[in-house]
Amino acid sequence: MEKLWTPWRLEYIKSPKSGSCIFCDLPKDQQDKENRILHRGKHCFIIMNTFPYSNGHLMVSPYRHLGCVTAIDDEETNELWHFTKHCVSVLRKTYSAQGFNIGLNLGKAGGAGYAEHLHNHIVPRWEGDTNFMPVLADVKAMPEHLSAGYDMLLPQFQNIPS
Ligand SMILES: [Zn+2]
Repeated sequence: MEKLWTPWRLEYIKSPKSGSCIFCDLPKDQQDKENRILHRGKHCFIIMNTFPYSNGHLMVSPYRHLGCVTAIDDEETNELWHFTKHCVSVLRKTYSAQGFNIGLNLGKAGGAGYAEHLHNHIVPRWEGDTNFMPVLADVKAMPEHLSAGYDMLLPQFQNIPS
């Protein structure tokens, strides 16, 4: 994967870590719009990344606080991938994504920001996006991008066909 130029990642790196886990805390908080949770399933939920690598960067995470693919059960694994596939379909349609980077960063050594609670990243990509990403990378505009993105995506996550 070519490195994307993502200055807002710096804010993330600079912000103090409280030791709490967003993947445990946010689903408990009943404020899905503020937390940008797009869908709640039986075992997993879908959330927008607040510090995205690109517009439309989504994450699918099980509710359980488990850090490795070897720890989650079959139902969690199935729903995680089922939701991941839905994210791809929606992003292809809504953002005209031409490609994707999908994956799990396991452990601190694997680059996980929240190593104790696994989450699958779905990052839409476009031809030549490493060239135009800097144009989109206006840190001040990002919260607005996120809210607008949430409103645009939400209707497509109301019902996820099985
Ligand atoms: Zn957790």
